[in-house]
Amino acid sequence: MLQVSLVVAVFVFGLYLGIYLRDKKLIQEQIVTSARAHFQNIVLTRMWNAKHGGVYVEKKPGIVSNPYLENPEITTTDGRIFTLRNPAMMTREISELADIHGVFKYHITSLKPLNPRNVPDEFERKALESFEQGKTQATTEETVNDHTVFRFMAPLETTQACLRCHAKQGYKIGDIRGGISVTSDITSIKKAMEINQIVILALIVLTTGIVLAIFLFFTFRLMRRLHAAQAAIAELAVTDGLTGLSNRRHFFERFDEEIDRARRYGSNLSLLMLDIDHFKQVNDTYGHPAGDMVLAEVARLLNANIRTSDIIGRYGGEEFAILIPAMSVSEAAQAAEKLRVVIEVNDIALEGPPLNVTISAGVADISSVIEDTKASPKDALIRAADRALYRAKNEGRNRVVVHEVE
Ligand code: GH3
Ligand code: MG
Ligand code: MG
Repeated sequence: MLQVSLVVAVFVFGLYLGIYLRDKKLIQEQIVTSARAHFQNIVLTRMWNAKHGGVYVEKKPGIVSNPYLENPEITTTDGRIFTLRNPAMMTREISELADIHGVFKYHITSLKPLNPRNVPDEFERKALESFEQGKTQATTEETVNDHTVFRFMAPLETTQACLRCHAKQGYKIGDIRGGISVTSDITSIKKAMEINQIVILALIVLTTGIVLAIFLFFTFRLMRRLHAAQAAIAELAVTDGLTGLSNRRHFFERFDEEIDRARRYGSNLSLLMLDIDHFKQVNDTYGHPAGDMVLAEVARLLNANIRTSDIIGRYGGEEFAILIPAMSVSEAAQAAEKLRVVIEVNDIALEGPPLNVTISAGVADISSVIEDTKASPKDALIRAADRALYRAKNEGRNRVVVHEVE
């Protein structure tokens, strides 16, 4: 039972754990995919910018020229000033905008930046180093002021446009000297995943509980039925079907036990053999089914008029045996006489008029047969009671005869 419960619990746990881990993996992949999309977006924007050799914006109030560019400004014939926005500056400005709008942040960085604001942080530095080793992306999760951020970084390949500013640092086309990191706030996703975790845990407990409860319910019900069936079979094995008394085999088992007990305690044991008188006539006159009813009724009357410590069994066709422990033979004979009277006075109701039947009984006790050394005490007792019964029949039936020591 315990093993099955354990298997069920492990199975349910494994099932949900599988679902949970798969969900988690999908969500994480989704986070990486969206970060990479942001990265590709900005790379495309930069390519567009670089392709045009930078883009000029009108130098309105608040617009500052890029201090790292030589001669970034031009003046139109009508006197307006335009200043150059190269990919790096554009990236930084878009990043600031994205940050203000609280979506995500870009950071362009390299191991040898011209602009000190582009110095890599710890994650970016390690990522850049790994790009030099041939890695194509780096990811991490960080906690900043109670917020969980996901960080993604991929390398930027040096192009012709980069050399305009970076040639003096020895950059060559195709070099991986820098990268862009994308940082996005995934606090809400993390919270949702935590709730998901709790829900799944609750589902595990609930499902395991329900499955176990159903399993235990049916197992216990089956066991109860099995026990009932076993008890019924055991009862059938020791009971006589017609009378409900112990059958002959079971009576003999009890007989052996009582002989042992009597010997152990030196106590007496009496055996009564009872036989219905002229029972053949009952069958012949009223039919076999009526005979069965008489047998069952005699058995019921006998059983109802003995003590609980007495042992009664159906010995043969219309013959019953009763063991009476710890009584003198004369007391046992009185008990037999009482039973004889009970049968005599209780007419048995059949379909026709009530039927009067009588019984004859032979009584013997263990002390009167102990001398009989040739037979076992049980056999000697049976023989003695049988003989007494035979005499009761011979002496006219409907009587009790006590075995006498010869
Ligand atoms: P006695 O007074 O000498 O005992 O005469 P009896 O007719 O009772 O004895 P006998 O041994 O001649 O006949 C016993 C009868 O009991 C014969 C048998 O058909 C009948 N009998 C035995 N078992 C059953 C049973 O289970 N049901 C019925 N209806 N009859 C049975
Ligand atoms: Mg008889
Ligand atoms: Mg008989």
